[in-house]
Amino acid sequence: KEKTFAMIKPDAYIHIGKIISIIERSGLQISNLKMTKMSQEDAREFYGEHKGKPFYDGLVNFMSSDLIVGMELVGDNAIKRWRELLGPTNTLVAREQAPNSIRGLFGTDGTRNACHGSDSPGSAFRELNFFFAKTSKL
Ligand code: ATP
Repeated sequence: KEKTFAMIKPDAYIHIGKIISIIERSGLQISNLKMTKMSQEDAREFYGEHKGKPFYDGLVNFMSSDLIVGMELVGDNAIKRWRELLGPTNTLVAREQAPNSIRGLFGTDGTRNACHGSDSPGSAFRELNFFFAKTSKL
């Protein structure tokens, strides 16, 4: 079994029920969940690999603009299965190529794309640790 970090971004937390239904139907198990807000500092660190890119500041502002929902998902091939449920990174591409994907259904534009998913076991470990250790003192 594998773990991944899934996050509902600020443009999509209003769709939390529908997104959780999709996860349940997929057979992935939700083993931890928290609704919170990311500070600008948290968002800058979380997306540190994109620092310097033209969309970085907009991404950081967006991610710290409103509530988010972080989840730990568990299952065989959880990383790949969750990214398949997400669809293409760009919402407009997702609407064309995977209209029933989470980003196709709930995304807004290039940056505001409804949800995040870890892309490797290393990033899943790092992101789960970041989210559930660093912001769990509520
Ligand atoms: P995520 O890491 O959020 O699951 P991803 O791995 O599919 O998405 P990355 O390339 O890691 O995509 O980009 C991280 C996030 O940065 C994207 O989800 C999106 O919100 C934003 N982003 C990426 N590329 C662009 C772009 N060209 N223009 C605007 N925003 C972008």
